[in-house]
Amino acid sequence: MLSTFDWLLRSRTGAELLATVRVLERRALAKSNPPPLPTPAPDGLQLAPPHSGLGGPCLRCWFYAPQAAEPAVYCPMCRSVLSLAAWLHKNDKAKQTVIIWGFVNQLPQELATGAYRADKRVRGAVVTDHHHFLVALYQRSVHHWLRKLLLYEGLELRGVLSIFPAEHGPHYRSGELLCQVAYQERRFAFDQLRVRFLPTPQHILRGHKLEREGLITFDAVQFMGMLESAAVFRAVMLPDEQQALRKVLAITDPNEAQFYWGRFLGMIPPEAKDMLTAWKVRQWSPGQHRLFFELVNYAAIHRVA
Ligand SMILES: [Zn+2]
Repeated sequence: MLSTFDWLLRSRTGAELLATVRVLERRALAKSNPPPLPTPAPDGLQLAPPHSGLGGPCLRCWFYAPQAAEPAVYCPMCRSVLSLAAWLHKNDKAKQTVIIWGFVNQLPQELATGAYRADKRVRGAVVTDHHHFLVALYQRSVHHWLRKLLLYEGLELRGVLSIFPAEHGPHYRSGELLCQVAYQERRFAFDQLRVRFLPTPQHILRGHKLEREGLITFDAVQFMGMLESAAVFRAVMLPDEQQALRKVLAITDPNEAQFYWGRFLGMIPPEAKDMLTAWKVRQWSPGQHRLFFELVNYAAIHRVA
């Protein structure tokens, strides 16, 4: 039998990953409400016969028997996943979707009870065992979801929350990246709640240097503070000012950088100037600059009264 986690690992694209989550959810919901934990693998699947000239297993999962329909190459579960993934892809529904993979001492209440279904920001969620869950959210919803989690369960929750985009382009399989993320979490104990921020495949596959520089793993409260700062940044500076700042900070020649920094400060409003000065952004490392601008994409819109 393939487990819930096995099904997730078979996802080739972000659309397939999101579709798998939704199909698993739908099947678990049909069986019971709220779902028992851990979420069971789908029922009604027959093990495939051995390979032969006349038939063999499903061409996607290589485990279950294909459905008796034309073309009979996929099992019912894979057929459902591929059909929904095609729709999600066609309608751009998987873009901007972010995965939070949790490895925790206890499941958050809303996942254990199924209450997350009332939260419109959650695009899908599955529990794979008593210490692991996956939540799919819109990129901008990560901030609110994390804030709520820390507010209600931050004192009891321990472990690692890994945040990464569902879609990684044609060169990376979403299931394999999830496998890497799950493998890396084994280094962490249940002594505190950490957040691993992995905005690109390079962070997942070749993140050792960034990890040593302290640019991947953070204490959860520290990470929340960084997101709050990014939200303030979005509220205070216009998008073209943000881009101009990024360009100015990327200048490597000291004299040129000083010249353009002075010009830039003269262009922005006083509150933005005060904010950047207080943060001492020019003293940050290039890695810290990249991290901050990545975080801005995940920050919620902060309404200034
Ligand atoms: Zn299959």
